[in-house]
Amino acid sequence: MDASLIRPADSAGIAAAAARLRAGGVVAVPTETVYGLAACAADPRGVAAIYAAKGRPSRNPLIVHVLGLAEAEALAVFDDRARALAAAFWPGPLTLVLPRRAEAPLAEAVSGGQPTVALRAPAHPVMRALIAAVGPLAAPSANRSGHVSPTTAAHVAASLGPAAGLILDGGPCRAGLESTIIQLAGGEARLLRPGAVPAEALVAHTGPLAGANTQALIAPGMMASHYAPRQPVRLDAETARADEFHIGFGAVAGDLNLAPDASLEAAAARLFAALHTAEASGRAGIAVAPIPAHGLGAAINDRLRRAAADHP
Ligand code: AMP
Ligand code: MG
Repeated sequence: MDASLIRPADSAGIAAAAARLRAGGVVAVPTETVYGLAACAADPRGVAAIYAAKGRPSRNPLIVHVLGLAEAEALAVFDDRARALAAAFWPGPLTLVLPRRAEAPLAEAVSGGQPTVALRAPAHPVMRALIAAVGPLAAPSANRSGHVSPTTAAHVAASLGPAAGLILDGGPCRAGLESTIIQLAGGEARLLRPGAVPAEALVAHTGPLAGANTQALIAPGMMASHYAPRQPVRLDAETARADEFHIGFGAVAGDLNLAPDASLEAAAARLFAALHTAEASGRAGIAVAPIPAHGLGAAINDRLRRAAADHP
């Protein structure tokens, strides 16, 4: 790992990051979900650099991060329900996929060929300071495409190395899971990705949620194999073999326990770090204790199923 890539997320670090972004470069930034690899959403050079650094297929759209609703409405067409969701959950880990405005100052590649754009107002002060300095930022997770998401600066350095440009270190991410993504089109609300806002919290605003239509869009977080360590991953494992690293939960102790008190918030925050630790252990496989399916458990189990899926 190259430690010189990593800088504290203080005012000098943020100014250096803003200069790189204005010059069409990328920087890795802490958010409340995971570390993002950011570029100016209006700059085709920066957006192209994100795809190149991650090895991300060009048809997979990026989330655009804004300060709030006023900035978002310049980029996409909001209806009353979208405004109510933004009012209730922004700033925070909810992404809205909405019709993109024709005149929106966004690089074409941000939408990956879709007529829509995905928007989120993050809560993390470092990410917000950068958006305030340079405008809306496109930012997927700061890892090689398909690999485990980063929740520390060291995870970013290990996955992307110098391709991250500059990594602002803001400590471990609070939520530890990516945003929940909702697509609003016509009368329908569709859950494209479970995430850090539990679906149970959304339905009061959206009514019943349709599931993701995986045929309609090839998108990274929706591919069967994603978030994948190098070793095979085995789920719902109460016990582990000697050659497996065991990730525990609640009463299942494991080599490392996501949450001895069975808190799903704590487990979500530690999940990706646990997968990084398990991968680095060098054991032949990874076994994961059962995790409940309700609340944040839906997103945790979604990530684990994709981590366990056969690589393409
Ligand atoms: P990531 O930035 O890696 O967390 O992934 C971004 C996710 O946002 C993708 O997996 C897509 O599911 C979703 N997304 C982004 N833009 C769009 C869009 N225009 N239409 C549908 N889904 C989108
Ligand atoms: Mg990702």
